[in-house]
Amino acid sequence: MFRSSSKLLEQANDLVKQGNFAKAEERYSDAAAKLTREGDSTNAQLAMAYAAFLALARAGGDPAIYGRAAQSLQTLGGATLKIGLRDVSASSLSNEVAILGEDLAAVMMPSQSVIEQTNRAQRLREVGLRYQSVIRTNVILTKEMFQKETGTGASRAFTLFALSEEMMGESTVFTDPKKAGEHYQQASLFWEQAGVKQASADARSRAQQYQKSAKCWFCGREVTGQGVSFFQLPSELTLSLTKTESAAVLPSFDNGTNQIFSCRGCNSTMNTLSDSWAQKRAQEVYTKLEAEIEVLRKQIQNMRR
Ligand SMILES: [Zn+2]
Repeated sequence: MFRSSSKLLEQANDLVKQGNFAKAEERYSDAAAKLTREGDSTNAQLAMAYAAFLALARAGGDPAIYGRAAQSLQTLGGATLKIGLRDVSASSLSNEVAILGEDLAAVMMPSQSVIEQTNRAQRLREVGLRYQSVIRTNVILTKEMFQKETGTGASRAFTLFALSEEMMGESTVFTDPKKAGEHYQQASLFWEQAGVKQASADARSRAQQYQKSAKCWFCGREVTGQGVSFFQLPSELTLSLTKTESAAVLPSFDNGTNQIFSCRGCNSTMNTLSDSWAQKRAQEVYTKLEAEIEVLRKQIQNMRR
């Protein structure tokens, strides 16, 4: 069936309005091909850029699709595009799409080792600064279009700053839990500014946990960083046991729960010992059962004779 390029463009525009982005992308691509054949390179580029932009609807976690769309939009220079109900310059949309691609790539960076964590934290911060300086307090059009979200560049910037601080916290927690706590404290403030209340509260409690200090009940070492350098264990503390500690600067047990604090060293030793005891005990039970089963088996054989 023959369709003129203007007819294809019209259909594509209607499909965008209906939210059928996949079909619209197809129509724009067809129109671009037709316009190229007709020698209308200006409109062909425009149609191509629309197609590349609409591909973001199915981009998922692929930063390369963002890179291609940004490049395609860049070729249009100062041309004005209609995105949803808004008019936007192709170059500013190109910048936005490029930043979204960088965002995606940064969030997907590995974070197993300390070096990876540091690199990722730095990259998250850099992309955050790009949002802050380029998109600022404007709504992120791409997200508004495809995800029906109305977040601004500023709020995404604060989110990335918060994630960056949390990553720094994780990278320092084993060497300097106090410092890690400071990073989480800072993350909490950024979450607050991004308007994510729950994440802010979580970061604050993580900060308190990492900055908490205690004295090991067993060896007396003074340690900082609950859940990292020391742990809380159930115990049966009597009043006289808890009384002996009144003069101590750091507590060796939790007043509320009467659970004792154990440093990582003591704790791991106890875990290893209790594991081996449990294994030994299980083996004893198994050996005993095996012997009993053997006796029963013999009895059954005798009965059959
Ligand atoms: Zn200890």
